[in-house]
Amino acid sequence: MSRFFSEKYKSLVSYTPGEQPRDMKYIKLNTNESPFPPSKEVFGAVSDEVSFLHLYSDPDGKLLRERIAYKYGVLPEQIVLSNGSDEILDFIFMAFFDDEHPVVFPDITYGFYKVFADLHRIPYEELPLNSDFSVNTEKYIGIGRNIVIANPNAPTGIALTPREIENIVQSNRDNIVVIDEAYVDFGAESCIPLIEKYDNLIVTHTFSKSHSLAGARLGFSVSSVEVARDLNTIRYSRNPYNVNRMTLAAGTAALESDSYYIDNCKTIIENREYTSEKLKVLGFDVIASKTNFLFVRSDRIPGQTLYSKLKKAGILVRHFSGERVSDYNRITIGMRDQMDSLILAIEEILAKLD
Ligand SMILES: *Cc1c(COP(=O)(O)O)cnc(C)c1O
Repeated sequence: MSRFFSEKYKSLVSYTPGEQPRDMKYIKLNTNESPFPPSKEVFGAVSDEVSFLHLYSDPDGKLLRERIAYKYGVLPEQIVLSNGSDEILDFIFMAFFDDEHPVVFPDITYGFYKVFADLHRIPYEELPLNSDFSVNTEKYIGIGRNIVIANPNAPTGIALTPREIENIVQSNRDNIVVIDEAYVDFGAESCIPLIEKYDNLIVTHTFSKSHSLAGARLGFSVSSVEVARDLNTIRYSRNPYNVNRMTLAAGTAALESDSYYIDNCKTIIENREYTSEKLKVLGFDVIASKTNFLFVRSDRIPGQTLYSKLKKAGILVRHFSGERVSDYNRITIGMRDQMDSLILAIEEILAKLD
């Protein structure tokens, strides 16, 4: 730390992204990326955009917002685009949460919520998940504080129903409820239709997982028009060109080829169920997932040991050290042959233990 670093950030513990190692070619099942490349429409749209890179991107992202709005049956004015959904979450924490308006989220969830709360010095409380890792919805009913819930949750993969979420939103009408739907395309139901009834609901989405654009950085929020205006006040005060030209073009083209991504999601879901069955046969506890990953543990091998041995075998999965989750590994669902390699590697690791 330099002697110039601001006092207010000295104790900040920043987010730890999943490893992106370059030392060898791994089967990467650790950061929930899509194993599928972008659609060919995206390739074309991005390369066409290169000739315009001397010009700023459209700060309104008008065309892309219109396409997103059309897909979800809302108004373009309800959409705010961001550089990955991490950025829109950052804007939401900044815009609506403060000392007088603290936030709550589950104790086991996406690590960035805590980082944003710390960054913006927002008081927060982590509400424990149930022992089966489901969100304890009772705790959120009428809590009278801002709420952030990933649905499906990460790294557990468990989803709430829109009905359960509506109860939370309805009982906290004077607080913002953020539903982070990063993984909703893998089998859960979106809460976007509830926005027309509740002006305190914000839903966030990303193109990183189901739409094969993690490297392009594209996310967005859907909310009431008024809430979207507030978010744009923040956005225009930070970086009006937060979504670059190539990414705007990529996102628009991706929505034009949505059926390609819907098919890919179907394949991921099939591969997920296939992998889940294989792991259960090997004695793993596998939490039923509505995402592109599985959260698994086994009495036969500690989570950290399995992680290390898989890494040696050239397969990366994600291990978290938190007390309640250190027994587990989060495994991203890839192509069928990648999942077969994983299963084979785990069989070999377990055989050597005996
Ligand atoms: C991956 C992820 C995000 C952020 O994705 P971006 O790449 O920033 O769009 C947000 N929330 C959850 C729960 C995620 O897993």
